[in-house]
Amino acid sequence: MNLLFDADVSRYHSLSQRARVLTETWTVKNSYCPRCGNRVLEHLPNNAPVGDFICPACHAPYEQKSKNGDFTATVLASNYQKMMDAIRNKTNPDFFFLSYDAPTLSVKSFFVTPRHFFHPGIIIPRKPLRAAARRAGWVGCQIQLSEIPYNGRIFIIKNGMEQEKDFVLKQYHDTLFLEQQSISARGWLLDVWNCINQLPATFTLNDVYAFEQQLRKKHPANQHIKDKIRQQLQVLRDKNILQFHGNGVYSKT
Ligand SMILES: [Zn+2]
Repeated sequence: MNLLFDADVSRYHSLSQRARVLTETWTVKNSYCPRCGNRVLEHLPNNAPVGDFICPACHAPYEQKSKNGDFTATVLASNYQKMMDAIRNKTNPDFFFLSYDAPTLSVKSFFVTPRHFFHPGIIIPRKPLRAAARRAGWVGCQIQLSEIPYNGRIFIIKNGMEQEKDFVLKQYHDTLFLEQQSISARGWLLDVWNCINQLPATFTLNDVYAFEQQLRKKHPANQHIKDKIRQQLQVLRDKNILQFHGNGVYSKT
């Protein structure tokens, strides 16, 4: 993979338009489909309803967010209601997150978050646009990247280093069980998984119970947080994300 942008396409005047063309052109020329491994992604027309790219082999759509420098806890996205509807209908695209270095016009990191890592709990509405705005009342949203477990950030390029393609495809494949979960079950599973990401490689059930208050804030209607925690640990164990060693001790695989 060539990590440098193709400066020939940089004839656009506005900085954001230029960045968009540079980064999307880079993806079409260099990336592959992390879902099926197909070597080619096709660019979709601007403002296509499904995303920015599509894989002609498995028809997976991809949307891309790019940023000069590293991504922080949240990423701006577009229409809130459309995003929520797509997540609930399981028609949302996978997201590519591309961070670049503007002075050298090169890619620093490039990762995919598969669509099955999205649930309503990580989408935050923004304030509606003011009455004077052209699209008055329009509500955008933010994706809370910090609420996505590390396993949902599958790096194709990490700190300027291309990752082994087979390893990328395997990591992607290992997360596909999430597609089978209902959206509400997925929310619980990913919230608990994200808590576990914050624990050491070996931990106890009580370590996870320590997140009870935090989880209660996210799921205020639920009176049985500890039961829910144990249920998610069971799923993660069945899917070989965790190993159980008895006496409430777990380790990450
Ligand atoms: Zn594909």
